[in-house]
Amino acid sequence: MYEWLNDLCNNCKGARELIVGKRRIECSVCGSTGIENYSDRKRSKITGLSVETVRESGDLLKQIHEEIERAERRASATMSVKLG
Ligand SMILES: [Zn+2]
Repeated sequence: MYEWLNDLCNNCKGARELIVGKRRIECSVCGSTGIENYSDRKRSKITGLSVETVRESGDLLKQIHEEIERAERRASATMSVKLG
C-alpha cells in the first residue's frame, strides 16, 4: 500500500530529471523513470519486518495478483458471452 501511494522517485519526485545550476541532468537514482524502486531491504526498513518476511509477503502478494488477474479474465469472458 505504501508503495502504491508513494510510487514517485524520492530523488527527483517523479520529474525524471534534476536541475543543477542551469543544467538538466537525468535522475540516476531511478534511471529517469520517475518511479521509486523499492528493494526488499527498503521495504524491510519501511515496514519494520525482516527481509525474509518481506520476501515471503511479496511472493504471496504476487500469487494474489495473479489470481485476481485470472478471475478478471474469467469475468470478462463471461460478460462477453452474456452480453453477446
Ligand atoms: Zn528519479
